[in-house]
Amino acid sequence: MMVWSAIFLSALAMTVIIALRYIVSSGLFAWISVRMRPGIYDGQNRQIQREIGWSLLSAAIYGIPAGIVAWGWQAHGWTLVYTRWDAYPLWYLPVAPLVYLFLHDTWFYWTHRLMHRPTLFRAMHAVHHASRPPTAWAAMSFHPYEAITGAVVIPVLVFLVPIHVAMLGIVLLIMTVMGIINHIGWEIVPRSIIHSRLGAWLITASHHHRHHEQYRCNFGLYFRVWDRLCRTDGGLSEP
Ligand SMILES: [Zn+2]
Ligand SMILES: [Zn+2]
Repeated sequence: MMVWSAIFLSALAMTVIIALRYIVSSGLFAWISVRMRPGIYDGQNRQIQREIGWSLLSAAIYGIPAGIVAWGWQAHGWTLVYTRWDAYPLWYLPVAPLVYLFLHDTWFYWTHRLMHRPTLFRAMHAVHHASRPPTAWAAMSFHPYEAITGAVVIPVLVFLVPIHVAMLGIVLLIMTVMGIINHIGWEIVPRSIIHSRLGAWLITASHHHRHHEQYRCNFGLYFRVWDRLCRTDGGLSEP
């Protein structure tokens, strides 16, 4: 009984943390968006309400596996998440987040493409595409089935790829910020970066916005690697 209540409390705490993270970070970028682009979300109040509702439901779905794994990490030393700086060579510190982002991107690209098959689209992914155009509140606006595909990624990866707990924090930060800035409806990243050599491989609002316009291209999450390899890269739009 003690064990089950500890797991339940951990899942509940994670749900609350993820929901608060969503409200604070999406709220911050929504505020910046309205200041930088006055009127950008005019007439979208009903859509924003739906985006917030689906996102809060997603927070609970993300919170459950995260809470179980966090409990196992603390209580039983589960996972390959480490806290000592010298547990692995120093050069590995920045490598681990890149591996996490690439593997997450790979998983996202292929599950996302699958979800664009007509039957799966209606069942799992239409909720996300109901955001036309998306807003800063759409970052976690997923149907529960789609949220499950996202919720398992980090809880599985921490069993497979060693990472320092601080680097895991950086992965979660990048995940959160990129999820939002890809949906805010305008390009926050300077043109000089987007049109640089590095920028040509990164996904920002200009790239993901085209996915929300055309559906058949730009399936990636962080990097354009898979879209380019599989010839699904439809270039940039001007949100
Ligand atoms: Zn999207
Ligand atoms: Zn899609």
